[in-house]
Amino acid sequence: MIEIRGLRKSFGTHEVLRNINFTVDPSGVVALIGPSGSGKSTLLRCINLLVRPDDGAIRVGDAQFTFDHAARPPKARALAAFRARTGMVFQNFNLFGHMSVLENVMEAPIQVRKLPKGAARDLAMTQLAKVGLADRADQMPQTLSGGQKQRVAIARALAMEPEVMLFDEATSALDPELVGEVLATMRALAQAGMTMVIVTHEIAFAREVADRVVFMRDGVVVEDGPARQVIDNPTQEATRSFLSHFH
Ligand code: ADP
Ligand code: MG
Repeated sequence: MIEIRGLRKSFGTHEVLRNINFTVDPSGVVALIGPSGSGKSTLLRCINLLVRPDDGAIRVGDAQFTFDHAARPPKARALAAFRARTGMVFQNFNLFGHMSVLENVMEAPIQVRKLPKGAARDLAMTQLAKVGLADRADQMPQTLSGGQKQRVAIARALAMEPEVMLFDEATSALDPELVGEVLATMRALAQAGMTMVIVTHEIAFAREVADRVVFMRDGVVVEDGPARQVIDNPTQEATRSFLSHFH
């Protein structure tokens, strides 16, 4: 479902992604782990083209972009169509504070997919029900807990009916007692067959829910394998050393 080949990205002289290669099968769940600054967020942002790669190729479903630092940038419309294939969930929810929960989830279907209001509302209610928040549709985001806000953010991403969901430390900003409900929502999505790439420091969750774990350091993939093998029995010393901080 996702194929990344030879991906490179620099900010100024700092090469943040150095020849990244990886693939995600349809309905596959990949956990991306690694130290702060290793390039995990940049990689996710490249997959949905929030960040434009310097070189390499990215395929999502049957759409592919090839980047070349010398080539002309792709057209805005092509970028937007590609971006709509992926749903992204951020650490800090990024809900629209002046809109109700329902309006937050309806916004992209109306603005981007050009759905009529009634259809957008039905779709939004379906997604809110999926994350267990249909009864909160008319509330404002600031009246919700952090865990509920993040579940709304997940519903909002799902309302674009993406082929792939990308999670960037979706539980890192939450109080510990609220982490579980968001992880449960992510687990249910995985079990329903969604293709997912999850940047997380929740190692136990990665081990349980992901079928593969990719360990990154300094802009390269150091280790990539079955989740339990990488976490319980890493082949690389760098992976072992990173994981030792979580025990
Ligand atoms: P991670 O998510 O693994 O912590 P990031 O992808 O956020 O890593 O960052 C990797 C490196 O790229 C860091 O050194 C960070 O400071 C740098 N970086 C990320 N985004 C930008 C940007 N927009 N401009 C300049 N440097 C950036
Ligand atoms: Mg990050």
